[in-house]
Amino acid sequence: MRSQGRDAATGILLMLAGVAAGLVVPWPMQIIVDCILGAKPMPGWLPADKLTALAAVCAGLLAIHFLRGALATWSSVVLVRAGLRMTHELRLRVYEHLQKLSLVFHDSRAVGDSVYRVTWDTFSVQTLFNGGIVQIIGSGVTLAGMMVVMLKFDVTLTLLALIVAPALAASIKFYNRRISAVSTEYHDRESRVSAIIQESIAAIRTVQAFAREDDEIRRFGTGAAQSVDANVRMTREQVMSSFVVGLITAAGSVVMLWVGGQRVLAGRLSLGELLVFIAYVGMLYGPMSSLSGLATAIQSALTPFRRVVEILETKPVIRDLPEAKPLTGCHGVVRFENVTFGYEAGKPVLRGIDFEAQPGEMFALVGPSGVGKSTMLSLLLRFYDPQAGRVLVDGRDVREFQYRSLRQQISIVPQEPVLFSASIAENIAYGRPNASREEIIAAAKLAEADSFIKDYDQPVGERGVTLSGGQRQRLAIARAFLKNSPILILDEPTAALDAETEAAILKAMDRLRQNRTVFVVAHRLSTVRSATQLLVLHDGQIVERGTHDELVAKDGHYARVVRLQFGTSP
Ligand code: ADP
Repeated sequence: MRSQGRDAATGILLMLAGVAAGLVVPWPMQIIVDCILGAKPMPGWLPADKLTALAAVCAGLLAIHFLRGALATWSSVVLVRAGLRMTHELRLRVYEHLQKLSLVFHDSRAVGDSVYRVTWDTFSVQTLFNGGIVQIIGSGVTLAGMMVVMLKFDVTLTLLALIVAPALAASIKFYNRRISAVSTEYHDRESRVSAIIQESIAAIRTVQAFAREDDEIRRFGTGAAQSVDANVRMTREQVMSSFVVGLITAAGSVVMLWVGGQRVLAGRLSLGELLVFIAYVGMLYGPMSSLSGLATAIQSALTPFRRVVEILETKPVIRDLPEAKPLTGCHGVVRFENVTFGYEAGKPVLRGIDFEAQPGEMFALVGPSGVGKSTMLSLLLRFYDPQAGRVLVDGRDVREFQYRSLRQQISIVPQEPVLFSASIAENIAYGRPNASREEIIAAAKLAEADSFIKDYDQPVGERGVTLSGGQRQRLAIARAFLKNSPILILDEPTAALDAETEAAILKAMDRLRQNRTVFVVAHRLSTVRSATQLLVLHDGQIVERGTHDELVAKDGHYARVVRLQFGTSP
């Protein structure tokens, strides 16, 4: 942050020195035309010999040009560096914020949109700095400097040079409004394209399995074409705007030449002075039109900038209360107290959920897909807060704990294990990054994974594609062993595994369950049979509870679910 500030300040000073050098450029010309070539007396500091004087002034002009160019180049590098560092800083901030934002935020957005905001929209801060602030200062100071010099010269001509300013301002305002509107549209469309790419590449297996590649290509094609269309319209407005601005400034120069020429003819202005004036007028319109283009640049950078700010201003829904304490020495007593929750207000997914689980117990959640099993587990992890009732761990409301410390006490073995593109060892240690190699190997052994791991440092392909389903499952179990937390969430794999792999996984899972509070989303009859308590969900409520045998004897909901889900009669 400090280096950006220093760079920005140094860059602006260098730029201003360059502007000052630029202001001097027309003067040697006047001396050449009026004094050396013309009839005006030579200034005392020049050599009396006209040829030597000409060479000296030319050399001086060259030196001024060099100085101006060098200062401009140097300041550009320093200022661009400052702008890029600002972008870097902003990217870090947005990414950090995205990592912290609650699932409620991420659920409601396409991943590609967030990717686009972090990757591309963050560059707007550089545009705002380099194309905005720096330009305002540079062009503003240049304009002011020129005005001072020109006014000293000839007030009427200066005012004439400025007569185009209102026309410039009006045309610029007109075009900016139009450009800003299509710019917003363009950015939204680009972001949508990014979301489409992200979505279909992430799900490429599914896309190919359903042979829907052509439809995906078409969907991308349509989105991308809409973006091109918006971009073309935006460019057309920008080009039209430059054309009109160019026309107005050209008209201004021509008027100057006409009036100035008359003055020279009348002997009220020397030829050299007219040249200086015309040189200034040429230089005057440069900063003027760059100031005018500025509003456009700022407008089009403000849209992506707002999209970044929108993320930064979103507060995580799940936050630690000021008095939240870390959860340490957790026993693993879990209690749901009359919990009601829905993703949308007024549409509860779970209603009046009430139970208590002790360490050593295994609770199986039973019910058809979409009944709210995962939602219950998300509440335990405090991904969401219930709308009514409480979730308690060790007798305390989970909201009393720092949520990250709560999550550290819970291990999850999901149905579809997620592996990161890192080594096998790093993947096993995801829940405890500082674990030793011995601990990692011990966990892999307990998870029946050591047998297939040849090299712990071997990288896992992105999303774990180089490993079979059963192997990924065992890595996830090893991860849970290493984390060694008192509460365990298991989502049994539904995919058919070969008998040997299945036996290994079941053995590892049995071992993992010992002495923990276990919640399992069961897809196997053997698992529900061994559960200490079944919670049968229907329509967002627990409709039956008890052991497998008790519930089968009851011949109610559960008996029907068993027939449906496990395809056997209990
Ligand atoms: P299960 O795990 O039993 O299959 P879930 O807990 O995943 O069921 O889902 C319960 C209900 O909540 C479903 O109707 C599902 O559509 C809805 N749901 C799940 N996740 C979300 C979410 N992030 N946003 C909105 N609705 C959701």
